[in-house]
Amino acid sequence: CGIIGYVGTDDAVGTLLGGLANLEYRGYDSAGVAVRDSDITVCKREGDISALEAALDGRSLKGTLGVGHTRWSTHGEPSDRNAHPHTDCRGRVAVVHNGIVENHDELRGELEAAGHEFTSDTDTEVIPHLIEAARRAGDDHETAFRRAVDRLEGSFALVALFADDDRLFATREGSPLVLGLDGDEFYLASDVPAFLEHTNDVVYIEDGDVVVLSRNGPTVSSPLGENVTPDRKTVDWNP
Ligand code: GLU
Repeated sequence: CGIIGYVGTDDAVGTLLGGLANLEYRGYDSAGVAVRDSDITVCKREGDISALEAALDGRSLKGTLGVGHTRWSTHGEPSDRNAHPHTDCRGRVAVVHNGIVENHDELRGELEAAGHEFTSDTDTEVIPHLIEAARRAGDDHETAFRRAVDRLEGSFALVALFADDDRLFATREGSPLVLGLDGDEFYLASDVPAFLEHTNDVVYIEDGDVVVLSRNGPTVSSPLGENVTPDRKTVDWNP
């Protein structure tokens, strides 16, 4: 239901939790975060953000890049294991997703036949496994992301991160996704209020476009891979 992504200079986890709190108005049944340092650490819980915060208490999630999610379940009951982020078998890629992957049954069957083991009942989990399959087949990170997204039917916004890459990869189809720019800090979210306390300099991502977001800033490209010049807008409403 709600997505927040962060690439910047601060410890990501505090910014992500703040972003999730700002998205609470959308409603949700579970919440989770993934933060990347040299590896990906995922923490997710059924219930409200205070349950996630309690689970995080005492754990140090280091890293200046990460994603967060509030889930409104459509496939799979509300539970810790069905909460986002979802990962591949080896925890090398993590994904948060809003919306529905309509052809998840077919994709899951195909992936399970190829040896992928699923750990949730969600439609979402096919995405990290598709990305993993493409990486194993030799694709670079962006190509693997694009190849996975090309297989998805339905409406979605999603953000992926890799253990062995320091960028976020995001796209949308029928669900909202917005980019926020604040000097050397960058945000991705399903809605502006998620990061409006930090910046009102935004780019609304178009259906099908792919955002690759690093510490040096975003690149946006079309489904065919052609560069798109981001159309920056100033949001002039208050949080
Ligand atoms: N369909 C996904 C799920 O049930 C995502 C739901 C959402 O948008 O929060 O996990």
